[in-house]
Amino acid sequence: MRAARLYRYDPEMNEQLRLEDVPEPTITQPDDVIVRVVAAGLCRTDLHIIEGVWKDILDPQRTLLPYTLGHENTGIVEAVGSGVTAVKPGDRVICHPLRTCGVCLACRHGEDMYCLNGRFPGLDSDGGFAEYLLTSERALVKLSADVDLVEVAPLADAGLTAYRAAKKAARLLPPGTSGVIIGIGGLGHIALQVLRAFSGARLIAVDVSEAARQRARELGADDVLAGGPDLVEQVKELTGGGAHVVLDFVGEKGVEQQAWQMLRKGGTQIIIGYGGRIEIPTVHMIFNEITVAGSLVGNYAELYELMDMAARGLVRVHVQRYPLHEINRAIDDFKHGRYFGRAVIVPS
Ligand SMILES: [Zn+2]
Ligand SMILES: [Zn+2]
Repeated sequence: MRAARLYRYDPEMNEQLRLEDVPEPTITQPDDVIVRVVAAGLCRTDLHIIEGVWKDILDPQRTLLPYTLGHENTGIVEAVGSGVTAVKPGDRVICHPLRTCGVCLACRHGEDMYCLNGRFPGLDSDGGFAEYLLTSERALVKLSADVDLVEVAPLADAGLTAYRAAKKAARLLPPGTSGVIIGIGGLGHIALQVLRAFSGARLIAVDVSEAARQRARELGADDVLAGGPDLVEQVKELTGGGAHVVLDFVGEKGVEQQAWQMLRKGGTQIIIGYGGRIEIPTVHMIFNEITVAGSLVGNYAELYELMDMAARGLVRVHVQRYPLHEINRAIDDFKHGRYFGRAVIVPS
C-alpha cells in the first residue's frame, strides 16, 4: 500500500515525507482492527514531529524512523481480530488517537489519555497517512451514514482537544459570566462552537487575524478582540473586572502571561496551546484565588459526545482536502498559512 513516511528529523523543516509502497498491516492481536483510511487530518503536531521537537520523548533510542505519520483518522473497518465484537468490516469509524489497554486503573476511570500502556499511531507507531491503519477495538467510535468522514477527521485529535477544554470551561460559565477564547484557529474555532452550544455565558474571541475574527463573529462570539499589548485592559473593561474563564489556544509569544492577568477573582485559565512559560507571583494566585490548569486531548467518551454534536450539525470544521500524493504540498501550505481550518489527507 502507499504510505507517507518520515525518514529524518529536520529542524529546518526542509525534509519531505517519502511516498512509498509498504506492506499492509496485519492482525496479530485479538483486539486488533485494520481500518481502510478515508481521511487523515494534518496537524501542527506532525510538523513538530518532523522538526524533531518530539524526538527525545517519542524516540529516545532513535529506532522509530522511518515510520508513517497521521493521527487524526477516519475510515471503514477492513478486518478485525478474533476477539472483536464492537465493530465489524464495513463499519464507518473515527479513531480515538490512543490505542489503550483497557485494564490499567486510568483506563478503568475512563481516562484514556492517562493509559499506562497506550500506543499512539502516527506518533510512536505507523499512522494514517496511508491506505490502511492498524488500531484496536477500544479506539473506535462508530459513525452513522450521514457523517462526512473527511470533514470529521480533524475532530479525532484537534476537535477532541478543543472539546475537552470547552466542556471543562462550560461548567464554570453559566449565564451572567464571561469566557475568553484566545486563538480562533483550527482548535479555537471548534471550542467556540462547543461553548456556544453548552453555555449561556458572554463569549469573547481573540485573534490577531481579521479573517479569524470574522469567523468568530459568524460562529456566535459576543465580542471579538484583536489582541495586542492592551488585551488585558480591554477584557477587564468588557467584563467589568475580568473573565471567569480564559481558554488559551496560543500558550506562547507572551499570550500565556496575559491570560491569567485577565481573570477575575476565582477565575480559571485553561492552557491548550503550548510553547511558552508562565510566571505568576504566588501572592497574586492566593489573593485572587485563581486556577491555572492544563488540558490534554480527550477521552473516548468525549470523542463520542463530540461525534454526536457533529452528526447534528452543532460543530463544523472547515477542511481543505489533499490527495495522499500531495501531502508535501499540504505541509507546505500549512507552514505558510495558505488555508483556514484544517488540511485533510485523502488516501484514495
Ligand atoms: Zn493532531
Ligand atoms: Zn490502560
